Amino acid sequence: MEENYGPLLSVRKEIDNARKKLGLNNDIYEILKNPMRIIEVNLPVKLDDGSVKVFKAFRSQHSNALGIFKGGVRFSPLVTREEVMTLSMWMTFKTAIAGIVFGGGKGGVNLDPKKYSSSELERIARAYIDAISAYVGEEKDSIGPDVGTNEEIMGIMADEYEKLENRKAPGVTTGKPIAFGGSKGRSESTGLGVATILEAYFLNCGESLAGKTISLEGFGNVGSFFAKNVLEKNSKIIAIKELDYKSEPIYLYKEDGFSFDELVSLKESSYKNLTCGAKFISREDFLSLDVDVFAPCALENSIDEDEAKILNAKLVIEGANGPTTSRADEILKEKNVNVIPDILANSGGVIVSYFEWVQNRTSLYWTRDEVIERLINCLKSSFENVLEIKNSYNSTLREASYMFALKRINSALRAKRLI
Ligand code: GLU
Repeated sequence: MEENYGPLLSVRKEIDNARKKLGLNNDIYEILKNPMRIIEVNLPVKLDDGSVKVFKAFRSQHSNALGIFKGGVRFSPLVTREEVMTLSMWMTFKTAIAGIVFGGGKGGVNLDPKKYSSSELERIARAYIDAISAYVGEEKDSIGPDVGTNEEIMGIMADEYEKLENRKAPGVTTGKPIAFGGSKGRSESTGLGVATILEAYFLNCGESLAGKTISLEGFGNVGSFFAKNVLEKNSKIIAIKELDYKSEPIYLYKEDGFSFDELVSLKESSYKNLTCGAKFISREDFLSLDVDVFAPCALENSIDEDEAKILNAKLVIEGANGPTTSRADEILKEKNVNVIPDILANSGGVIVSYFEWVQNRTSLYWTRDEVIERLINCLKSSFENVLEIKNSYNSTLREASYMFALKRINSALRAKRLI
C-alpha cells in the first residue's frame, strides 16, 4: 500500500533530492523517509441511537528533531495510514521552514463528520484522546485543527486530556476556543498566511497584489480567509471551484470578480442560488482561464497530470497540503509555471499554533495585533530564507523549501550526534 500512495512517494523524492543537492549523505534520508512512530487505534463509540461503531484512527509522529511533534488531526472518510504518514512528514518540513520550535506529526480519524451529531463527534474526539493520551501532551505532541475538525473539537480534546492527567495542560492542543486558552488570530491565520506569502512573492518581483486575477479552489477555513485578505488588497477572484450540496465539484465564474460577501452567500446557499451574476463553467474552462494565480485551498491531489496540462495560470500557490501530484509538478515546471509550495505557503496556521502553545505555557496572552505582527514577520523571513536558497541553487521554490528545512533538521540531528 505504501508503495502505491503517490503523495508519500513524492515527499520521499523531495527529501532525497534536497539531501543530494545539499551534498548530505543518505543517513538523513533513511531517518526521515518514515515517521518515528505511527499509532493505530480502533475507537469504539456509542452513537445516539444506542448502537456502537468502531472508528479507525491514527497519529503519526514523524520527527521531533527540532521540537515536540506538532500537527493537525483530520476527521475525513479518506483518512488512511499512508495519508496521515505523509501529512506528518510535510509538517516536519513546514515547521522547520518557519523556524518555530516544533517537529512534525499528524492524526486522523476515518469518518465523514457530516454524518454524525455534535454529541457523537464529541464522544469520538474524547475516545481519540483516551486512546493516544500516553503519546501526546504539551511536551510530547501537540494536536491542531485540520480538515473536518475545528476549535470545538480542539477544546474537547484538551479537556479530555486534562481530565485524564488531572492537571491543566492546554498546550496539548492548539486552535482551541479563545475562552479555553485559544490564541487570538488562530482561525484566520492559515488563509492570511497564504495571502501574505503571495504578496511577498509579488513584491519580490516588483509587483503588488492589486489587480491580480485569481482562481480559487475551496472556500473552507483556508480559502475563505485567503479570499478575504487578497480582496482587501484589491486582487480579483474571478473563478471558484467548490463542492455543492451533493458534494459534486462545481465551477463558477464572474468576469468582474466576486466580492467577499458574494462568496459567503454563494457558500451559504450550497451554490444552489447564483444571485450575484456568477455563471457555471466547465472544469476545462475553469482550468484554462488566463489568470495570474491559481490557489488550490482544498485537499491533496487536486492537480494531476491532466489538470496541469490544461492549467493556464501563471503561478500556483498551494493553500492545501499536497494539492499538486509529482507528475503535475514536473509538467508545471516544464511550462514555467512557478509553484509556491504548501510547506511554505500554508504555514501560517501552525505558526500561530506555536504562538498559542507559547501563550499556554507562559500564561501570558497576546493581543490580536501582536499575534498578526509576529505572524507576518515570521512568514516574511521564511519567504526570504527560501528565496535565498532558490537563487543560490537555481532551484524551484519547492526544492528550495525542502533544502532550507533539511539544513535545519540536519544541524539538529548532528548536534544530537545521530548523524
Ligand atoms: N493543520 C495545519 C497544517 O496542516 C496545522 C495544524 C496545527 O496547527 O497543528 O498546517
